[in-house]
Amino acid sequence: MAEVIEVLNISEGEPGFSDEIMKLGAEELLDCIQCAKCAAACPMVLAGFEFFNKRIIQSILIGQKEILLDDSSIWACQACNRCTEVCPRKVEPFGVVMAMRRSAIREFALPTLAVEGLKSLYDVGHAVYFSNAGEIRKKIGLPEKPPTTASNEQALKELRILMNKSALSSLGIIPMDSGLSDVTCCEV
Ligand code: SF4
Ligand code: SF4
Repeated sequence: MAEVIEVLNISEGEPGFSDEIMKLGAEELLDCIQCAKCAAACPMVLAGFEFFNKRIIQSILIGQKEILLDDSSIWACQACNRCTEVCPRKVEPFGVVMAMRRSAIREFALPTLAVEGLKSLYDVGHAVYFSNAGEIRKKIGLPEKPPTTASNEQALKELRILMNKSALSSLGIIPMDSGLSDVTCCEV
Protein backbone atom coordinates (compact mmCIF):
# COMPACT_ATOMS: atom_id res chain seq x y z
CA MET A 1 0.00 0.00 0.00
CA ALA A 2 1.36 3.41 -0.97
CA GLU A 3 2.51 5.63 1.91
CA VAL A 4 0.27 8.66 2.53
CA ILE A 5 2.32 11.84 2.69
CA GLU A 6 0.79 14.80 4.51
CA VAL A 7 1.30 18.03 2.60
CA LEU A 8 1.24 21.33 4.48
CA ASN A 9 -0.63 24.14 2.79
CA ILE A 10 1.49 27.22 3.44
CA SER A 11 -1.37 29.53 2.45
CA GLU A 12 -3.30 28.23 5.48
CA GLY A 13 -0.61 29.39 7.88
CA GLU A 14 -1.39 32.01 10.52
CA PRO A 15 -0.28 35.44 9.25
CA GLY A 16 2.06 37.26 11.63
CA PHE A 17 2.90 34.14 13.65
CA SER A 18 6.66 34.50 13.14
CA ASP A 19 6.42 38.17 14.17
CA GLU A 20 4.61 37.11 17.36
CA ILE A 21 7.32 34.58 18.22
CA MET A 22 10.08 37.11 17.49
CA LYS A 23 8.43 39.58 19.85
CA LEU A 24 8.31 36.85 22.50
CA GLY A 25 12.11 36.57 22.47
CA ALA A 26 13.20 34.81 19.26
CA GLU A 27 14.70 37.94 17.68
CA GLU A 28 17.04 36.06 15.30
CA LEU A 29 14.39 33.68 13.97
CA LEU A 30 14.59 34.90 10.36
CA ASP A 31 18.34 34.18 10.21
CA CYS A 32 17.72 30.41 10.27
CA ILE A 33 18.93 28.67 7.10
CA GLN A 34 17.48 25.26 8.10
CA CYS A 35 20.94 23.68 8.05
CA ALA A 36 19.86 21.14 10.73
CA LYS A 37 22.99 21.43 12.87
CA CYS A 38 20.74 22.09 15.87
CA ALA A 39 18.71 18.97 15.12
CA ALA A 40 21.87 16.85 15.00
CA ALA A 41 22.66 17.92 18.57
CA CYS A 42 19.15 17.72 20.00
CA PRO A 43 18.09 14.97 22.43
CA MET A 44 14.47 15.52 21.36
CA VAL A 45 15.37 14.05 17.97
CA LEU A 46 16.87 10.95 19.58
CA ALA A 47 13.76 10.59 21.73
CA GLY A 48 11.62 10.63 18.58
CA PHE A 49 9.61 13.80 19.07
CA GLU A 50 7.87 14.97 15.93
CA PHE A 51 8.80 18.60 16.46
CA PHE A 52 12.30 19.62 17.57
CA ASN A 53 14.31 22.84 17.22
CA LYS A 54 14.76 22.93 13.41
CA ARG A 55 11.23 21.69 12.69
CA ILE A 56 9.73 24.05 15.26
CA ILE A 57 11.49 26.96 13.55
CA GLN A 58 10.37 25.79 10.12
CA SER A 59 6.78 25.46 11.33
CA ILE A 60 6.85 28.94 12.87
CA LEU A 61 8.20 30.42 9.65
CA ILE A 62 5.30 28.99 7.65
CA GLY A 63 2.72 29.99 10.26
CA GLN A 64 1.75 26.54 11.57
CA LYS A 65 0.62 27.88 14.94
CA GLU A 66 -2.30 25.50 15.53
CA ILE A 67 -0.22 22.44 14.66
CA LEU A 68 2.52 23.46 17.11
CA LEU A 69 0.03 24.28 19.86
CA ASP A 70 -1.73 20.94 19.41
CA ASP A 71 1.55 19.04 19.78
CA SER A 72 3.31 18.71 23.14
CA SER A 73 6.85 18.50 21.70
CA ILE A 74 7.83 22.03 22.76
CA TRP A 75 7.47 20.91 26.39
CA ALA A 76 10.00 18.11 25.88
CA CYS A 77 12.97 20.47 25.37
CA GLN A 78 15.64 19.65 27.97
CA ALA A 79 17.09 23.17 28.03
CA CYS A 80 20.53 21.67 27.34
CA ASN A 81 21.35 24.58 24.99
CA ARG A 82 23.42 22.34 22.69
CA CYS A 83 21.51 23.76 19.72
CA THR A 84 22.51 27.30 20.63
CA GLU A 85 26.17 26.27 20.82
CA VAL A 86 26.25 24.70 17.35
CA CYS A 87 24.03 27.09 15.39
CA PRO A 88 26.18 28.84 12.74
CA ARG A 89 23.68 31.69 12.41
CA LYS A 90 23.30 32.54 16.11
CA VAL A 91 19.57 31.91 15.93
CA GLU A 92 19.53 30.54 19.48
CA PRO A 93 17.07 27.70 18.75
CA PHE A 94 16.58 27.06 22.47
CA GLY A 95 15.34 30.63 22.79
CA VAL A 96 12.92 29.99 19.93
CA VAL A 97 11.50 26.99 21.79
CA MET A 98 11.10 29.14 24.92
CA ALA A 99 9.36 31.87 22.90
CA MET A 100 7.05 29.20 21.51
CA ARG A 101 6.28 28.08 25.05
CA ARG A 102 5.38 31.67 25.98
CA SER A 103 2.96 31.74 23.07
CA ALA A 104 1.45 28.41 24.17
CA ILE A 105 0.98 29.66 27.74
CA ARG A 106 -0.86 32.73 26.47
CA GLU A 107 -3.19 30.42 24.55
CA PHE A 108 -3.60 28.07 27.56
CA ALA A 109 -2.19 25.29 25.36
CA LEU A 110 -0.33 23.44 28.10
CA PRO A 111 -0.33 19.69 28.58
CA THR A 112 -1.00 18.48 32.14
CA LEU A 113 2.63 17.53 32.61
CA ALA A 114 3.75 21.09 31.85
CA VAL A 115 1.29 22.50 34.40
CA GLU A 116 2.57 20.03 37.00
CA GLY A 117 6.14 20.99 36.13
CA LEU A 118 5.42 24.70 36.59
CA LYS A 119 3.67 24.05 39.89
CA SER A 120 6.60 21.96 41.10
CA LEU A 121 9.04 24.68 40.00
CA TYR A 122 7.10 27.23 42.05
CA ASP A 123 6.70 24.98 45.08
CA VAL A 124 10.14 23.39 45.38
CA GLY A 125 12.38 25.04 42.77
CA HIS A 126 12.53 22.06 40.40
CA ALA A 127 10.24 21.39 37.45
CA VAL A 128 10.71 17.66 38.00
CA TYR A 129 10.72 16.68 41.68
CA PHE A 130 8.73 13.65 42.76
CA SER A 131 7.07 13.60 46.17
CA ASN A 132 9.27 10.97 47.86
CA ALA A 133 12.55 12.22 46.39
CA GLY A 134 13.83 13.14 49.87
CA GLU A 135 13.37 9.59 51.18
CA ILE A 136 15.18 8.08 48.21
CA ARG A 137 18.05 10.56 48.51
CA LYS A 138 18.46 9.78 52.23
CA LYS A 139 18.51 6.03 51.53
CA ILE A 140 21.53 6.43 49.28
CA GLY A 141 23.33 8.74 51.70
CA LEU A 142 22.47 12.11 50.16
CA PRO A 143 20.99 15.12 51.97
CA GLU A 144 17.20 15.18 51.78
CA LYS A 145 17.25 18.15 49.41
CA PRO A 146 19.81 18.74 46.62
CA PRO A 147 22.16 21.75 46.96
CA THR A 148 20.05 23.79 44.54
CA THR A 149 17.09 26.17 44.77
CA ALA A 150 15.26 23.39 46.60
CA SER A 151 17.44 23.84 49.71
CA ASN A 152 18.07 27.57 49.39
CA GLU A 153 15.17 29.55 50.86
CA GLN A 154 16.43 32.86 49.49
CA ALA A 155 16.82 31.50 45.95
CA LEU A 156 13.39 29.85 46.12
CA LYS A 157 11.80 33.10 47.23
CA GLU A 158 13.48 35.03 44.41
CA LEU A 159 12.33 32.39 41.91
CA ARG A 160 8.76 32.73 43.16
CA ILE A 161 8.92 36.52 42.89
CA LEU A 162 10.11 36.18 39.28
CA MET A 163 7.31 33.74 38.47
CA ASN A 164 4.78 36.04 40.17
CA LYS A 165 5.92 38.85 37.89
CA SER A 166 5.67 36.72 34.73
CA ALA A 167 2.61 36.29 32.48
CA LEU A 168 1.89 33.09 34.39
CA SER A 169 0.64 35.08 37.35
CA SER A 170 -2.17 36.87 35.53
CA LEU A 171 -3.21 33.70 33.70
CA GLY A 172 -3.85 31.84 36.94
CA ILE A 173 -2.56 28.52 35.60
CA ILE A 174 -0.91 27.57 38.89
CA PRO A 175 -1.64 28.78 42.44
CA MET A 176 0.76 31.54 43.51
CA ASP A 177 1.29 33.61 46.63
CA SER A 178 -0.38 36.92 45.73
CA GLY A 179 1.63 38.64 48.48
CA LEU A 180 4.78 38.32 46.35
CA SER A 181 3.37 40.18 43.34
CA ASP A 182 4.46 43.63 44.50
CA VAL A 183 7.78 42.66 46.06
CA THR A 184 10.84 44.09 44.30
CA CYS A 185 14.26 42.52 44.20
CA CYS A 186 15.58 44.84 46.96
CA GLU A 187 12.90 43.87 49.44
CA VAL A 188 13.73 40.18 49.25
S1 SF4 B 1 18.55 27.24 14.05
FE1 SF4 B 1 20.69 27.42 13.41
S2 SF4 B 1 21.48 25.31 13.45
FE2 SF4 B 1 19.23 25.18 13.49
S3 SF4 B 1 18.62 24.93 11.36
FE3 SF4 B 1 18.55 27.14 11.82
S4 SF4 B 1 20.55 27.94 11.23
FE4 SF4 B 1 20.76 25.71 11.37
S1 SF4 C 1 17.93 23.13 24.27
FE1 SF4 C 1 16.08 21.98 23.71
S2 SF4 C 1 15.91 22.28 21.48
FE2 SF4 C 1 18.04 22.78 22.07
S3 SF4 C 1 19.23 20.90 21.80
FE3 SF4 C 1 18.55 20.97 23.95
S4 SF4 C 1 16.62 19.83 23.97
FE4 SF4 C 1 17.04 20.34 21.83
